[in-house]
Amino acid sequence: MVLELETSMIKDWAGYKGRPFLISGPCSAETEEQVMETAKQLAELNKVSIFRAGIWKPRTRPNTFEGVGITGLKWLRNVKQETGLMVSTEVANEKHVYEALKYGIDMLWIGARTSVNPFTVQEIADALRGVDVMVMVKNPINPDIELWLGAIERVAKAGIKRLGAIHRGFSTYEKTTYRNQPNWQLPIELRRRIPDMPIICDPSHIAGAREYIHEISQKALDLNFDGLMIESHIDPDKALSDASQQITPNDLKELLTRLILRNPSPSDPRLLDVLGELRQQIDVYDDHLIDLMEKRMKVSETIGRYKKENNITILQSARWDKIVKNAMIKGKSKGLSEELINSLFKAIHQESINHQMRIMNNGIDKYIEE
Ligand code: PEP
Ligand code: MN
Repeated sequence: MVLELETSMIKDWAGYKGRPFLISGPCSAETEEQVMETAKQLAELNKVSIFRAGIWKPRTRPNTFEGVGITGLKWLRNVKQETGLMVSTEVANEKHVYEALKYGIDMLWIGARTSVNPFTVQEIADALRGVDVMVMVKNPINPDIELWLGAIERVAKAGIKRLGAIHRGFSTYEKTTYRNQPNWQLPIELRRRIPDMPIICDPSHIAGAREYIHEISQKALDLNFDGLMIESHIDPDKALSDASQQITPNDLKELLTRLILRNPSPSDPRLLDVLGELRQQIDVYDDHLIDLMEKRMKVSETIGRYKKENNITILQSARWDKIVKNAMIKGKSKGLSEELINSLFKAIHQESINHQMRIMNNGIDKYIEE
């Protein structure tokens, strides 16, 4: 089902400086100087449409920096006056909306920890009724397209026309290379459901580390996203939040020169990069396999230590036979060949022995059984 929302094209948004529509600035506003200096350097690039800075910060753990609050709104107002950049911040409740509007903030975004909650999104939408401001809705932290759509609809129903979505990736239990999994099929589906609404990619929060920002940005452009939100700080290593994923304005400049802007056409196979998405999944499982092996070997080492302390030596080949036999039965029921199970378990077993040998350190070359 395609949703008929009255959203305006990104090129009609205030501050538009061409594709990609670029939003940049620090994760958090920390001091007046940090905000102003970052903004000035970003304005000089002449590519940034909107300056961002978090004023109220949703932090995972208490006793970490939770933002400077309303004081920072004055700094943003000064940025707008001095640099001419449009300014934006995150809002997480109706009070934030009223305060931000009071200080003339041009664009508000709803964060990933807020878009999961329909009550809060509705509260924010009600506070936005009748206001002409740009609004972006980040995806909820869990990969639920309906929840994301629902949040967007609530804001649209409040009459917001300059409305867009920000794709910032999805959290998983599994430890993966990126901080948040891109799950590109979700923003692709969002585009299908609301074809005319601008979609921005936030490679900083997907990556979690500077080194991946470029590749994620390139991918987003290849998938025909309208723009990018990239965190930038004059001194990233000293940032009070998200230090490892922020880059200097100068590094942003360099990154932008390396981005290739391809001409989107509806038949372009890159618009639906199915293979890329599947490869991402393979990478997740391979990572998972290695983590599992590490955990398994740690247990083997503990067994080795126990055997050493208790002077238990060797070998219970019956135990090993049982492990392989069970694995064969289970493997078969899952469509895995005997050959795979055999060679896989042989290799795992050998590695276990090596780990235990290192622990026992007595040079015996017979089987030490688990
Ligand atoms: C942010 O933009 O700094 C932020 C907190 O983002 P998210 O809601 O995507 O985690
Ligand atoms: Mn951040």
